[in-house]
Amino acid sequence: MEPDSGLPYKRVLLKVTGEAFTKAGNQGIDIEALDHLAQEIMDVHDLGIEIAVVVGGGNIFRGAAASKAGMDRVTADYMGMLATMINGLSLQDALERKGRHTRLLTSIDIHQLAEPYVRRRAVRHLEKGRVVIFAGGTGNPYFTTDTTASLRAMEMQTEVILKATKVDGVYDADPMKDSSARKYKELKFIDVLKDGLKVMDAAAISLCMDNKLPIIVFNMTVPGNIKRVLMGEDIGTIVRGG
Ligand code: UDP
Repeated sequence: MEPDSGLPYKRVLLKVTGEAFTKAGNQGIDIEALDHLAQEIMDVHDLGIEIAVVVGGGNIFRGAAASKAGMDRVTADYMGMLATMINGLSLQDALERKGRHTRLLTSIDIHQLAEPYVRRRAVRHLEKGRVVIFAGGTGNPYFTTDTTASLRAMEMQTEVILKATKVDGVYDADPMKDSSARKYKELKFIDVLKDGLKVMDAAAISLCMDNKLPIIVFNMTVPGNIKRVLMGEDIGTIVRGG
């Protein structure tokens, strides 16, 4: 699929946290939230932009939290990775209900449900105009789906990572708790690491920094926002540079 001329991006990776699959404060999957997410992805895809999506699993299970409560960390992390499979399947279903071609690729073999992740195959799917969904995280415990997003973005050679959140960018304090919190328009990777700013975990940020892959953090609960970001509108926070 050829992109519209004038668009700043041709191929992007969208990282969607598990929270986007449910209503605020809830767990599990909410069909309305899911359909909103699918529609937002389709609106971008309709522009002719190739889009790969890494799905989180926090709406169902998080390994670190379960291990704090006493569960074996590795087992808990594998459960978290399986949770991302459930989200991946539900996003695939929502997109296909709307007639979109998709492929679900997994880092953990579940061959009845999804294709095993093979880089060249994933790239080919993107070139053929399919929405590619990555589930199963990196396939390794002690990692997160943020790190998965950085890794897959590099492998797919996307131009940017879109980190979809519930706030409209990165702040110097929690804007939900502190009304004087200030939003950054632009940040350097090194400052994110130095100041411990909540963008993505340190492993994910380091990977992006080493490979000069920018991240745009934006609020995806506002309808049309993914598209706005990709049309070059100045919303959210962009993280790039030394
Ligand atoms: N996970 C993992 N390895 C990975 C990716 C994810 O072990 O490469 C596990 C980890 O337990 C994590 C859970 O899967 O807590 C869900 O992923 P994440 O917390 O990144 O989801 P999100 O916060 O984006 O919803």
